[in-house]
Amino acid sequence: MLTTPPLIDIHSHANRPSSGCRILSLDISAVVDALYLQSEIAEPNRYVSIGIHPWFIERQPVEQSWQTLQTLCIDPKVIAIGECGLDRCIDTPLTTQSEIFSRQIELSERIGKPLIIHCVRAFDELLGLRKMFKPIQTWIIHGVTGKPALAQQLIKHGCYLSFGKALLKPDNPVCQTLTTIPLERLFLETDAATDINIAQIYAAAAKILGLEIGVLSAELHRNFTRVFLHD
Ligand SMILES: [Zn+2]
Repeated sequence: MLTTPPLIDIHSHANRPSSGCRILSLDISAVVDALYLQSEIAEPNRYVSIGIHPWFIERQPVEQSWQTLQTLCIDPKVIAIGECGLDRCIDTPLTTQSEIFSRQIELSERIGKPLIIHCVRAFDELLGLRKMFKPIQTWIIHGVTGKPALAQQLIKHGCYLSFGKALLKPDNPVCQTLTTIPLERLFLETDAATDINIAQIYAAAAKILGLEIGVLSAELHRNFTRVFLHD
């Protein structure tokens, strides 16, 4: 008998019950210690990404965040670093953000775990860092919005893309963007939304792509295994 692979939520901030597989994203300033981490991921099919989000760089001394991140990132349930990245729409200077992001790029390479990236209006800088570091680890740009051109540029540079709630509005240009993404570079997510579940995002994506949900979930499960569960 064929079994349907679990629906994978690649990036979520809400640790609510769900039958699928989820990477819960925790900012390091909210991770108190290893014990806390374990309680968040006690269920099977639960994983964590931890990082220093650009919005929260100034929440606590950076060196404190950095020490905690380095200590906890080696836990096997932590399967990615992030979310981290660059955001032009916040007060923290982009140079500071870039320095903190660069440390996390280096960490990702050192420990062999992918990056989940938040990027707002700073894609030139992001691709500049990508050219500089030439990372081996996968970079997943989460929360893709907008038209196909930028998404195509990110794909050309080797990034994976993750789409979320925006797909639920059929007239959103991001629905057209989704149709231009190779399936082997695609992920789906709920991010910070508390009023939707990952099954709704899969249903919307499958409809836009003209695929059965089972076909889509099998493709994304393959992506998940390749990117996150390798040795
Ligand atoms: Zn997020």
